[in-house]
Amino acid sequence: MSIIEKNILHIRERINDAAYRSDRNPDDIKLMAVTKTVECGRIIEAVESGIDIIGENYIQEARRKIEKLGKEVKWHMIGHLQSNKAKYAVRLFDMVHSVDRIELAQEIDRRAKSAGTVMKILIEVNLSGEVAKSGIVKENLFQFVQTIASFKNLSLLGLMTMPPWSDDPENSRPFFSELRRLRDAVACRCIEGVSMNELSMGMSDDYQIAVEEGSTIVRIGRAIFGERS
Ligand SMILES: *Cc1c(COP(=O)(O)O)cnc(C)c1O
Repeated sequence: MSIIEKNILHIRERINDAAYRSDRNPDDIKLMAVTKTVECGRIIEAVESGIDIIGENYIQEARRKIEKLGKEVKWHMIGHLQSNKAKYAVRLFDMVHSVDRIELAQEIDRRAKSAGTVMKILIEVNLSGEVAKSGIVKENLFQFVQTIASFKNLSLLGLMTMPPWSDDPENSRPFFSELRRLRDAVACRCIEGVSMNELSMGMSDDYQIAVEEGSTIVRIGRAIFGERS
């Protein structure tokens, strides 16, 4: 068994344990392999070990890999996206996790319309207030959701966040529970075209806590592939 396969099995076990601890169905949690800087051969190993969602941060890098590996698996955009790259995002990806500006949402909507598709998106929320981080501030969330709901070629499925870096994963917990609370608050309003089932949260160091707090998509790089060079 390869290291990558072993890592993935280990992570799935930890996810299952965290799900049972918190009275959740493990089937409700999707494991995304984050593959920035990871070469195609190792991505294929991950896919052969059962990975069916791949997360990429950069358009160019993703394009090169998608041309090679094809669309048997789902490709998700998780990195900062410039509005002028929206057309590539629509062409390449099944979902964008990092929608954080109206102009970006508008541009994805416009490009999805001309491509004749509906793009699945998540709203990235910045809960830590760190200025270097992308994401909208939570005070703007409801307004933002209302605006996005009016875009016919976007399907808003939930929220995404990235807590500040910390050497203690427990420090991520309040950010994860806050994201879930916001998700529930939006879901409560029953806005047409908005489903809010997905919570994209949890990375290599804190995914078990994210699952305990309701994550439906964990985004994992280093715990699968090792440290990035
Ligand atoms: C790199 C990255 C991840 C994965 O981080 P790891 O610590 O390698 O698990 C998850 N989400 C985003 C947005 C990333 O950029």
